Amino acid sequence: MSRLLIIGCGGVAGVAIHKCCQNSDVFTEICIASRTKSKCDALKEKLSGKTSTVITTAQVDADNVDELVSLIENYKPEAVLNLALPYQDLTIMDACLKTGVNYIDTANYEAEDTEDKEWRAIYEKRCKEEGFSAYFDYSWQWNYKKKFEDAGIMALLGTGFDPGVTSVFSAYALKHYFDEIETIDILDCNGGDHGYPFATNFNPEINLREVSAPGSYWENGHWVEVPAMSIKREYDFPEVGMKDMYLLHHEEIESLAKNIPGVKRIRFFMTFGQSYLTHMKCLENVGMLRTDPVKVGNVEVVPIQLLKELLPDPASLGERTVGKTNIGCIFTGKKDGKEKKIYIYNVCDHQECYKEVESQAISYTTGVPAMIGAMMVVTGKWNKPGVYNVEEFDPDPYMEALNKWGLPWAVEENPVLVK
Ligand code: NDP
Repeated sequence: MSRLLIIGCGGVAGVAIHKCCQNSDVFTEICIASRTKSKCDALKEKLSGKTSTVITTAQVDADNVDELVSLIENYKPEAVLNLALPYQDLTIMDACLKTGVNYIDTANYEAEDTEDKEWRAIYEKRCKEEGFSAYFDYSWQWNYKKKFEDAGIMALLGTGFDPGVTSVFSAYALKHYFDEIETIDILDCNGGDHGYPFATNFNPEINLREVSAPGSYWENGHWVEVPAMSIKREYDFPEVGMKDMYLLHHEEIESLAKNIPGVKRIRFFMTFGQSYLTHMKCLENVGMLRTDPVKVGNVEVVPIQLLKELLPDPASLGERTVGKTNIGCIFTGKKDGKEKKIYIYNVCDHQECYKEVESQAISYTTGVPAMIGAMMVVTGKWNKPGVYNVEEFDPDPYMEALNKWGLPWAVEENPVLVK
């Protein structure tokens, strides 16, 4: 019996909302609130008669703390699930603090305006001190820890697939398979084909910022940064086949380096096809990935936002995407004094996802764990005041829920390692 406020009504939220509605025993009432209320109403309409979850909708500008506070005070949820954009993480956390309500998200804070002087000064200091230059990092949200503890509420950060499930896989490997984990390679493979020459599988602005940033990995207690897409490997993914993959900076490396004791190296690889890379390089070269406004006549335009309008809406890719994703982690380390290696992964079929919730697998693999994270919080299975990443809790109930709610996982002993 719980009441959940979900902010955002895009690709990921669409799946999480479907899943909450399949899980009506836990989510008896949900409110879908987003910038464009008509999208919330359309989803409510689609789900009506198919669930016993009571759905309401609302319009909210999640950049505005006062608006959020009044929505939360009116609706009185047990928790807020943030499925808007990483730009809104801090305003939503502020509103949760003011109203004493738990907070859950799938992506760490990122500044929308990277030219903002105050933000830039903090960012540049962090780049020097930490050694990686991605625009997103956990420091902003980890800084809320004491405030959340004092308020007696919890923030659960990063309950998507990566971060999220990959982080829970890490906690599970440590709990059940290793005395000590030495290396983690997170492998994110999308073997799906949507038939467009170029499209992104989730919000284009967030996606393109992430993949055009320098790559980095954690090794022996510090970050090693390399030019974007400069480390390439091949891997033969179960149920997908051989794919090229590239090393990226990714946010769970930061939290796993802190929360997996003694880990020596953590890398993240994502697969890309040649067409995607060629398009991205070209867009970058001509300035279309810029996040600062440029003047076009009398109008200011942010190139990456214009690009987002031109590209296919990720939520519309579901029907035409065929193939499978395989996302997981390869762990090496020691158990009872012996060397050990395992691979934990999930395979998800784009068309199966579409049949179930009218979405492609990227939104599905994020939306299902978003619902599961919210369930862990509202049922009290994971609940302690403060700000936490998912790997800081008992992984077992989450792993069980993955099997039950559509993301079954497999463990392979002695997998082929990535060079
Ligand atoms: P979409 O762009 O499809 O959806 C974002 C939603 O947020 C839209 O409904 C949008 O409204 C709404 N929104 C944006 N700004 C505001 C605002 N100021 N106030 C209220 N609502 C707002 O994104 P996705 O669904 O693809 O991604 C959602 C989140 O999931 C992102 O944070 C993304 O980084 C994260 N993610 C995490 C992954 C993981 O594995 N951990 C993987 C993939 C995504 P409107 O409809 O008006 O545009």
